[in-house]
Amino acid sequence: MNDHKIRCAVCKKRPHGIAEYVEASIGHLLDSVDDYITQEEGTFNPSNNLFTCTDCYVKIGMPSGRNGWRPRGFYFQSADGTWCVWDKRIGDIERRDPRVYG
Ligand SMILES: [Zn+2]
Repeated sequence: MNDHKIRCAVCKKRPHGIAEYVEASIGHLLDSVDDYITQEEGTFNPSNNLFTCTDCYVKIGMPSGRNGWRPRGFYFQSADGTWCVWDKRIGDIERRDPRVYG
């Protein structure tokens, strides 16, 4: 874990701002919506505290990986519709097809 706040890598929303996760956390009797993300959300990446909400996951083309898929940085859509990733680790914008991440 690190001290970055848990956010969707695409829309940048916190879990408590996304109705789907608020409802799911209540259904799972968890104390916080963040707990739902860290315990139940398959795209949650503990190394950067990013996940993708369901709407955004569809938007970026439902990427998959051999051992599950997790966002490795923040996503931005450029003017031509290409999805780019801002990888904070290398501090640069990379133009790659998010579907190849795994
Ligand atoms: Zn989102």
